[in-house]
Amino acid sequence: SFTLAIVGRPNVGKSTLFNRLVGKKLALVDDQPGVTRDLREGQGRIADLRFTVIDSAGLEDATDDSLQGRMRRLTERAVEMADVCLFMIDARAGLLPADEVFADILRKKNANVILAANKAEGKAADSTILEAFALGLGEPIRLSAEHGEGLGELMDRLRPLSEAFAAREEANAPETDVDVGDDDEDAPRIPTKAKPLQIAVVGRPNAGKSTLINKIIGEERLLTGPEAGITRDAISVSQEWDGVPMRIFDTAGMRKKAKVQEKLEKLSVSDGLRAVKFAEVVVVLLDVEIPFEQQDLRIADLAEREGRAVVVAVNKWDVETEKQSKLKDLRQSFERLLPQLKGAPLVTVSAKTGKGLDRLHQAIMRAHDVWNRRVSTAHLNRWLTGMLEQHPPPAPGGRRIKMRYATQVKTRPPAFVVMTSFPDMVPESYKRYLVNGLREDFDMPGTPIRLYLRDQG
Ligand code: GDP
Repeated sequence: SFTLAIVGRPNVGKSTLFNRLVGKKLALVDDQPGVTRDLREGQGRIADLRFTVIDSAGLEDATDDSLQGRMRRLTERAVEMADVCLFMIDARAGLLPADEVFADILRKKNANVILAANKAEGKAADSTILEAFALGLGEPIRLSAEHGEGLGELMDRLRPLSEAFAAREEANAPETDVDVGDDDEDAPRIPTKAKPLQIAVVGRPNAGKSTLINKIIGEERLLTGPEAGITRDAISVSQEWDGVPMRIFDTAGMRKKAKVQEKLEKLSVSDGLRAVKFAEVVVVLLDVEIPFEQQDLRIADLAEREGRAVVVAVNKWDVETEKQSKLKDLRQSFERLLPQLKGAPLVTVSAKTGKGLDRLHQAIMRAHDVWNRRVSTAHLNRWLTGMLEQHPPPAPGGRRIKMRYATQVKTRPPAFVVMTSFPDMVPESYKRYLVNGLREDFDMPGTPIRLYLRDQG
């Protein structure tokens, strides 16, 4: 289970939402700002999703020892206690300077943030929703805590996080004896701010995942063998690799639980799924003798959809005799079978001999770097102007599509919003043109890029 903290300035509706999630009138609701002064905790639920909720006092732009300073500290504590923060703004009041202060603090604390615009019933909320993109915290959810609207969307946002936290708990459980467990006691609870770079090694059984991880950690901590499914229940190992702390998720561990071979494939896909949700960089490990199997493609596609940075590594390169032509083949298959991963690096390795592991390391670091990249709004808009001049958007039905402004709303992976007239009329091919342009002009290989078009009204 995980902990959700509701934060935001006074009177945005935090306690009303808390009441809704907890289902009892535990919190005090009042129209006077700042009536909630302490952290309240309760067991929240939306449908079958269960979690702990903390209702924080308002976060004020004041650091003195006044009531507001105290509330600010309380809220900071709530953020530290939480796995996910629901940052609430008031759609009716619009974006206030105080909201920016909170956004800054949340960004600095590197919290997992879900942005919610409350009191969003009705059209009046639209302009706040658009403004809120500028906070750089992703797309806001439209909520009406009072009328219980928007809870479904909140649930959709929480569910993948909830699964990731469940995987994390399992990974940190003491009985995983292969986990070298160098977790720092003080380590932050929020995965995005945990220091080790989180990698998942995924691929079909026998691709060499365990061998690769063994090689990286330099000792025989995991068992490997010629048979699929021999690996013990390894979930993750933490290890420095060339001076970089990494936490490596092995998806092989649970295979032994599958008794029959047919089950195997299914199981390793769902294991892979969990590891993918938890990872920052996903290494799709292919067997050079049977590359791009259905299962590999499925998991690579999943990694892209989940917005992870992806590195494709072709293993057992030591046995390949026609290296040059094989490499050419591989690149072609890659382009044809995984067009959605355009620009992702393809490296060849031998987990057995260790050859190519330095290249793999570099590719992982680079992909991680790109995944975290932030492009300045000024750069972006100069770029957009150029793109539009070079290739103006089509005019379907004689209507002119006017794109006015672009901004990066998120990293990990990079996500961009372009304000445009008639967003629904912009063809997919034009979106691809923009995404490819972003990828090339800002040098962002190996990461999914999200592009959202928004009606500027
Ligand atoms: P996993 O199921 O993906 O974890 O695969 P394993 O690590 O258990 O490896 C499966 C088999 O492939 C074992 O017999 C390994 O020795 C072999 N293997 C793994 N990597 C290499 C490699 O780079 N070269 C060669 N020749 N064999 C490898």
